[in-house]
Amino acid sequence: MRVGNQRRNRQVATWRDAAICRDGAVGIPGLSRAERVCYTRSCTRTTMSDPVPAERRLLRSWKSIAAHLEVDVRTAQRWHKKTPLPLHRPSLERSHPVVYADELDRWIRESDVRGQTAPERARRGGRRALAAAVIVVAIALAGGAYILRPERAGEPHRAVIDGGVVSVLDARDRECWRRTVEGASGAPIVEDVDGDGRKEVLVDVAASASGATSGRLQCFDANGRERWTFVYGRARSWYGREFSATYGGRFARHIRTPRGHAVLAVAWHNLWFPAQVALIDSASGALAAEYWHPGGLRELAVMNLDGDEFDEVLLAGINNPGRGLGHGVLVALDVPFTSRELAYVVLPRPDACSVLGEIPFVNRLANEGANVVAGVRCGDATWLYTFNRALELVEMRPSDNVTALHRRLHQQGLLDHELGDEEEACLRHVAWFPTAPDGNSASLARLWAKCE
Ligand SMILES: [Zn+2]
Repeated sequence: MRVGNQRRNRQVATWRDAAICRDGAVGIPGLSRAERVCYTRSCTRTTMSDPVPAERRLLRSWKSIAAHLEVDVRTAQRWHKKTPLPLHRPSLERSHPVVYADELDRWIRESDVRGQTAPERARRGGRRALAAAVIVVAIALAGGAYILRPERAGEPHRAVIDGGVVSVLDARDRECWRRTVEGASGAPIVEDVDGDGRKEVLVDVAASASGATSGRLQCFDANGRERWTFVYGRARSWYGREFSATYGGRFARHIRTPRGHAVLAVAWHNLWFPAQVALIDSASGALAAEYWHPGGLRELAVMNLDGDEFDEVLLAGINNPGRGLGHGVLVALDVPFTSRELAYVVLPRPDACSVLGEIPFVNRLANEGANVVAGVRCGDATWLYTFNRALELVEMRPSDNVTALHRRLHQQGLLDHELGDEEEACLRHVAWFPTAPDGNSASLARLWAKCE
């Protein structure tokens, strides 16, 4: 074990050794295969020719349509039967009528349906509407099909989740499609993750509350058709324990690899420490490679660490299998993953964390120029570790309140000493390992006996 930046040369040697050891155990076959693969990409692209108001109100149900028309739902539907409303059904679910408020206003003006209570007047209105429709169709045939559907949404730009319904919007906030995805959570990713020129939508689906089903990542194409589903995690035994196959997604990210496009996903076991980092083939949803970590990973950065053409993955979190508070870590992975980490850096656990009983997660990861700053936080104080791109420690700076926190804990009798130079020097030591050690091992605790 190499400790401390005064032995940096040996640390570098460790990394070099680790890098040489990339013996290519890549592509571990996973349980999670794509359930449905690739639909043909026959989706229509729509050219917008008409200027469209930047803000249009979309009514998404009979109830809201009726409210807009200031009638009850039955009346609105009766009107629709006689003189069809300008409905759109971008959704696959035909039970959701969608109509723009301004189109509805125009419809009500032109159809003259309001106030027509007598059947005769309704029929007259129907005839008038029919005549208007004939004219519209004639204009459309003359001028191009877009006139019929000038409000059609463009390419997916962003997606929102509301009550289990994923709604995908274009750059002007017009709805491209919506569908119910039970358990959908977080912020969907709208990005061309497979390089086909159109944007896919990645939706994280939470594990069931009972833990009976694992979380998953679902990929939909630009038209809302399901491309694939990747189920996080799998049952496995580790550190002498059995872990169920129930995992929840933490991050997903599109990443380019030397072998093509992929989706990187990080998932945690729903109860215990294992974390899975999965490299998913973004065309098929198949597991291309995976990395397992003995503890949660809170931060993810995709950045170029070695100066080659492709980015590496930098993860930050905690190494704490078994009993104990563990240690904060930085983990660098080559993409595609190799059998070992590119670098595995363990940070000391400040004694304030130990006595406060707080897990010393690395829960900040930020670029600072060419450097990377990782922060360990306990009791409102932060220890900021600055690394260069080779993940060598450049400096450690405690936040301004560290001294006060330490003093308070000392006065409360939780710590038996004042903060001194020796302790500060100890906190500046970071340890490198060729692969993840047990973050609660006695040998690790011995490395930082003077500050933990
Ligand atoms: Zn101390």
